[in-house]
Amino acid sequence: MYKIMSVNAGSSSMKFKLYEMPEEKVLTAGICERIGHDDGIFSITDNEGKKIKKILPIKDHAVAVKLIMDALISNHIIDSLEEIKGVGHRIVQGGPYFSDSALFNKDTEQKIESLIPLAPLHNGPHLIGYRAFKKALPEVGQVAVFDTAFHQTMAPEDYLFPIAPEYYEKYKCRRYGAHGTSHKYLSEIAIKKYLKNKKDTRIITCHIGSGASLAAIKDGKVVLTSMGLTPLGGIMMGTRTGDMDPSVFNYLVSSTGKSAEEIFQEFNKQSGLLGVSQVSNDTRDIENAAHEGNKQAQLAIKMWSLKFSQFLSAYACRLGRVDLIVWSAGIGENASYYRQCVVDECSEYMGLKLDHQKNIETIRGKEGIISSKDSTIPMVVIPTDEEIMIARDTVRLLKL
Ligand code: AMP
Repeated sequence: MYKIMSVNAGSSSMKFKLYEMPEEKVLTAGICERIGHDDGIFSITDNEGKKIKKILPIKDHAVAVKLIMDALISNHIIDSLEEIKGVGHRIVQGGPYFSDSALFNKDTEQKIESLIPLAPLHNGPHLIGYRAFKKALPEVGQVAVFDTAFHQTMAPEDYLFPIAPEYYEKYKCRRYGAHGTSHKYLSEIAIKKYLKNKKDTRIITCHIGSGASLAAIKDGKVVLTSMGLTPLGGIMMGTRTGDMDPSVFNYLVSSTGKSAEEIFQEFNKQSGLLGVSQVSNDTRDIENAAHEGNKQAQLAIKMWSLKFSQFLSAYACRLGRVDLIVWSAGIGENASYYRQCVVDECSEYMGLKLDHQKNIETIRGKEGIISSKDSTIPMVVIPTDEEIMIARDTVRLLKL
């Protein structure tokens, strides 16, 4: 028995989960937030599952790692740091270099660093997290688990944009997708548990949280995914536009007097469900507002459902046949009203039907089939678990 730490480091936060492996038992989980501030927030669950929360200065990521290590010992979650045999990190952008997770070494570090321009908000902070753990646990092996790796099976005709080849050759400009670790987890369960490992499986996985993406997966390999060069592409999201006519960008920059950066930030942080509804990026608030008669909220839900259903039907067409549609992440796992809205938009052509009762009941971490018996394609909710995939890959690459 040994312990593995699964880490997701952001610019001002560090999320962690400690597993006992190979049992895959969660020993504790927590987060350091507001790193760099005097009123940082540190929370961790103790052995009884009770949440301990402290407000204290967290100067940098190294201080955050020390806080986590000290709390593991002082709360008797582990007796010694030597019990931790590996640390796995979520890395958002692996570019064209990584089709699998990789051991952290100089080469891995340099490649992740070189991809910072493609994921400026993520890859830099991931490396800071890695270096902080390296300092705290110098003897422990670390593994990089890439959000893009699972999508590397896409063919050039799917990952290239219709622009001159030099943009890919010189600047690596292409579709990379995101949420790959989640799509992989969902597809593994879908194929094993719901399709009984049959041959020639064709599924669509929908990771629908505040960021959202779909993947068309044939025989366990991604054919197509909806996010693009960055997570801004694809379906309409909580605050992101998803795909649009690219000239919208130029037109708004030239006609509003706002800078390119301002408009770009708006497309990422002020658009999507939030931008259209002008209510919130949270589906619960928008649903309430829509039911109270708020026209913008109603429009936001309608637009969101239409965009989603258009991707779903296009992916079904692309796969030629679909054996299963998987719903997951914050909205996919919880928002039965939104699931119904999407299905309503494509039921006439695709023959999708939900079981009303099952759809309403399958929320808050529950897994199960939500389609009715006469639906042309079965639909299932599977709660995602990216952290366990990170822990599993850490064990596999460190050969523990
Ligand atoms: P994620 O990014 O996967 O954590 O998803 C977060 C989003 O899921 C939130 O912004 C909400 O829009 C949505 N969500 C979470 N819980 C619920 C719920 N119980 N009902 C409806 N939507 C939910």
